[in-house]
Amino acid sequence: MTDYNTQLIEQRRELHQWPEEGWTEFWTTSYIVKKLQAYGYEVLVGTKVINPEQVFGRNQKLVDLGIKNALERGADPKLIEEMGGYTGCVGVLDTGREGPTTAFRFDIDCVCVRETDDPAHKPNKEGFRSQHDGYMHACGHDTHASIGLTLAHWIADHKDQLKGKFKFVFQPAEEGVRGASAVAASGIVDDADFFFGSHISFMADSGEIVAAPYGLLCTSKYDVTFKGQPAHAGKEPNAGHNALAAACNAVVQMLGIPRHGGGMTRINIGTLRAGEGRNVIPSSAHMALEVRGETSSINDYMSEQVMNILEGISKGFGVSYEISQMGAAVDFTNDPELSELIAEVAKETEGVEKIIPDGNFGGSEDISILGRRVQQHGGKAAFFICGADRAAGHHQSTFDIDENALKTALGMYVGIAKKVNGI
Ligand SMILES: [Zn+2]
Repeated sequence: MTDYNTQLIEQRRELHQWPEEGWTEFWTTSYIVKKLQAYGYEVLVGTKVINPEQVFGRNQKLVDLGIKNALERGADPKLIEEMGGYTGCVGVLDTGREGPTTAFRFDIDCVCVRETDDPAHKPNKEGFRSQHDGYMHACGHDTHASIGLTLAHWIADHKDQLKGKFKFVFQPAEEGVRGASAVAASGIVDDADFFFGSHISFMADSGEIVAAPYGLLCTSKYDVTFKGQPAHAGKEPNAGHNALAAACNAVVQMLGIPRHGGGMTRINIGTLRAGEGRNVIPSSAHMALEVRGETSSINDYMSEQVMNILEGISKGFGVSYEISQMGAAVDFTNDPELSELIAEVAKETEGVEKIIPDGNFGGSEDISILGRRVQQHGGKAAFFICGADRAAGHHQSTFDIDENALKTALGMYVGIAKKVNGI
């Protein structure tokens, strides 16, 4: 008999030691692929599960370094080659009995945070801290990947009691909402009748399940580069085209975008870097910004205003600009019958003490893009929260999770699989 609970913790601790940021999860992906294959899954990687045209915020230098690191850590070179530079994978298991196709999504990337040296921090105390300096599983995606793997194991072991087909999406680059668009655009979840995903902890403590978190915000992330013309600031400033001035004006105008009456909006220009030197008319400027909106159309409205401002500024200041999308998430609402199913399963799951019907998520999660895609293709989708006590808030260097919550989360997923795909 497999001891699923021990496996859950062991895997989580192994994954915790080598965290990789979005689009560089080569070691993590190969770790997952090998396990899925051992459980009898057909595993798809590379452009079979990633549409390169919808890849946001991927840095080739970091990708190359990720590949090098993964190979050094013993990843299979053949598999790395098969991945074609793209991380993430999808495991497929067909029970051979007619029934629904159920897809689960687990995100696998880390946060660019250096894990604390505090000896009281459990990963330090128990010897499983990050060995990848400057990177840390500070959002719990190590637990997500482990829960996904053990669920895959359980399902393979109990195939005879199940019908239909299972798809396990191990998604790269959730941080910065960069990865889901490319996975969705590959079409890999289009045939899903049911789609489930969750986040550990976040807004709930150990023993709590939030069946239908709401307030997943629509967002678009952009990088903008202005290109002007450098010139001597004393001799002939008239010959220059000032990219810094253009960018500053763009910032002021963007912050003044009229708010939408139809719902909540946000805009933030988080960074602005410009110029070459004191006596040079600045010829380049770079800004990172994001907009958010309560619904897709309100978010689109914010994006449109940003585009209009860029166009006007470019004309007015005689500069050119390039804009690239770095991430995206949409608003998302659970199919109510799946929220009910989650609450029902929670009632029967060991470790669950409190079922919270809903709660404000108050952030963005790109599972929304995959969930929406499933809904648009006639399937049903839901996102829930598996509560877990945490040592500190998410994305902090002292973040840690009550590992008992992994067992509860696994119990939830097993319950869901039985309810949806049980014979
Ligand atoms: Zn997260």
